[in-house]
Amino acid sequence: MILQKNKLKNIVIIGTGGTIAGVGEAGNTSSYVAGQIEVNNILDAVEGITKLANLSAENIINVDSCDITQEDHIKISNYINELSKDDNIDGFVITHGTDTLEETAYFLNLTVKTNKPVVITGAMRPATATSADGPLNLYQAVVLARSEKAIGKGVLVSFCDCIYGARDVHKVSCFRVNAFDQKDFGCLGYVRGDEVYFYNESIKLHTTESEFDLKNVQKLPYVAIACFFADADVEILDYLSKTSKGIVIAGAGCGECGKIWSKKIKELVKNGFPVVRSTRVASGLVASEKSVNEYGICAGTLPPHKAHILLSLCLTKTNDLEKINEIFKKY
Ligand code: ASP
Repeated sequence: MILQKNKLKNIVIIGTGGTIAGVGEAGNTSSYVAGQIEVNNILDAVEGITKLANLSAENIINVDSCDITQEDHIKISNYINELSKDDNIDGFVITHGTDTLEETAYFLNLTVKTNKPVVITGAMRPATATSADGPLNLYQAVVLARSEKAIGKGVLVSFCDCIYGARDVHKVSCFRVNAFDQKDFGCLGYVRGDEVYFYNESIKLHTTESEFDLKNVQKLPYVAIACFFADADVEILDYLSKTSKGIVIAGAGCGECGKIWSKKIKELVKNGFPVVRSTRVASGLVASEKSVNEYGICAGTLPPHKAHILLSLCLTKTNDLEKINEIFKKY
């Protein structure tokens, strides 16, 4: 590992693949294969990045982020937790595919035990495209990771000039370079030039305040997501309740489902089976005044795929619906 003793910060760059490491036909933005180039080679294309910090880079995987597994999530988290004990290391940048970037970000936000900046970035265009966005995104991620202002803010996403928090960031475009947003919550701030500007912060618990510990966790309990739609067959819930340890419902509106689904969900919850209600709607709140609602625990503003991460982690600690409900309110 690096690391020089000069006045620059020491930043570790962890490559995991994605479009930022993608290779395709020269110039073309859309036909390529993700996860081809090693992160060290991506760095070579980033003009001026070595003046920002002392950098050490290595790939721990190199895949399209749709192929990232929960075991990979655990691996990345353990890797950062181990390295963060080294006083010479000041921060981390992870390069990642954008498709599931927000899931990895939220998982790390809940499981890394450090105040040091952990910044995730990626790209919408492959390294071989005209106007590839990866080099600037990586440059800005290093600007953020070396900043004192990023300390203790939880896992951050740096993308296309903006800073986002891991809990609330969403991919909102499947091809534009400005692909991320926090919807109702805007963004946390900006990276401009070699400076960082923060304006917001999430009040939800993360990193050093988080109760989740992966020390004895090799595999997470399997949690399924069931999407409700008009006239959806209820048998999927029967199947998933037999094959998983918990279900997140991507409901309509405020996490709503039709009468037949609702009856089945009520039955599962009554039997103590963990069901979390989220929404397939792009933004909004699924909430209930009651402790555990008879139709499941409410996901608040978490979308189904992030409620999935939180429920998987909850199930490493407890199966008690009241306790899971309390945890959902804090994170
Ligand atoms: N499919 C790619 C990935 O998630 C897309 C991207 O990185 O933008 O790895």
